[in-house]
Amino acid sequence: MDDDDRSHRRDQPSDCTYLEGCPIFARIESHELRTMWILEYCRGGRYSECARLKLKKQGRTVPLDLLPDGSTVGE
Ligand code: SF4
Repeated sequence: MDDDDRSHRRDQPSDCTYLEGCPIFARIESHELRTMWILEYCRGGRYSECARLKLKKQGRTVPLDLLPDGSTVGE
């Protein structure tokens, strides 16, 4: 990891700012799956890759059942 990586990580919040109240979690019935998504994306440093977050930042409508990896609940 070089200095640029380190400063980028320092500037980036560790959790997604939408974590509290993100509507996707109400659509995932399994506690284990919810935890998996949260650990991998929302609190795992990959939230900038989240399909939901990308649409939200573009000001576009976010489908309720869209998962962070771009698939949908039940797919
Ligand atoms: S699912 Fe995406 S938008 Fe929702 S809290 Fe997690 S990273 Fe943020």
